[in-house]
Amino acid sequence: MPVGEFDLIDRYFRRLDRPGGHARADVLLGVGDDAAVLRVPAGQELVAAIDTLVEGRHFLPGCAPQSIGHRALAVNLSDLAAMGAEPAWALLALTLPAAEEAFLEAFAAGLGRLAAAHHVALVGGDTTAGPLTVSVQVLGFVPPGQALRRAGGAPGDLLFVSGTPGDAAAGLQLERRAADGGVAPPGEAAAGQALRERFLYPTPRVALGRALRGLASACIDVSDGLAGDAAKLAAASGCGLRLEADALPLSPALRALAGPERALQLALEGGDDYELCFSLPPAQLPELAVAAQAGGCPLTCIGVLEQAPGVRLYRGGKIQPYVATGYDHFANSG
Ligand code: ADP
Ligand code: MG
Repeated sequence: MPVGEFDLIDRYFRRLDRPGGHARADVLLGVGDDAAVLRVPAGQELVAAIDTLVEGRHFLPGCAPQSIGHRALAVNLSDLAAMGAEPAWALLALTLPAAEEAFLEAFAAGLGRLAAAHHVALVGGDTTAGPLTVSVQVLGFVPPGQALRRAGGAPGDLLFVSGTPGDAAAGLQLERRAADGGVAPPGEAAAGQALRERFLYPTPRVALGRALRGLASACIDVSDGLAGDAAKLAAASGCGLRLEADALPLSPALRALAGPERALQLALEGGDDYELCFSLPPAQLPELAVAAQAGGCPLTCIGVLEQAPGVRLYRGGKIQPYVATGYDHFANSG
């Protein structure tokens, strides 16, 4: 049943300004007035990011609304993680074709669950009618001068990635096939489900980003493909990059379903991982174990920054011809 705009905000979104039922003391005024009033902690820098998900481009038509709510926040938390920031507040601009209760309930549950897990308060937003589009803005803090950047890496710094890149891209392919009415081959069930979950419910590496402050020389979150995003980090740092194909951490599910060659390609070029890729001066290596522990996810050294610009992919000790192609919305939309 459709609901009115004010009902809708009240019923589904107002309660998310108390993440997990606990109010944040720094929210002086949340949902309900013309704007939110927020107290930035003394001596901290404010870090802001916004990302938009459009139906048919960032998620498939008919996608589970829980996943849309989760991903809309997760992609933003991932941007804050890449800066080493502590997320605090979010705003939601929601454009909906119709205010359907079942959709809103599930969407708010997906967003609310992730927000509660990170103690993020939804402090405001905007609701309009139109093609399904979800914009979330997140705000967070970082101690002065400690934000991680893409620039800052130097030749000789080791390059790391968290988690197992490529899984989400494989999961999206399985989602597409299911949406097209395709049938999963026998034996695929568990591995396929694991990969789909990686696409539908990515884990933003917020704790890892925080633990990398003062340790990583540069950091980026991997949203458009590892090779392309690593190349962006290297270029911003005024460096080039040697990537070791044999070192890439491919998950057992990805290997099983995609086979070794396709798995490698998905890990390098697939999107939607929301892992962190960072450079580390070798002298900092002993301290990385502590960050890995705090981050709660595996970290793998996949290469090294070099003086010469560009990306060089090595396999079996030999250089492979390779052109890094990150996802580009405008290049891919024609
Ligand atoms: P205004 O017309 O002043 O922009 P709105 O009716 O758009 O007011 O919003 C009323 C209140 O509800 C504001 O506090 C706004 O931040 C909040 N709000 C509107 N839409 C959403 C949403 N989708 N999620 C969270 N808060 C929302
Ligand atoms: Mg408004």
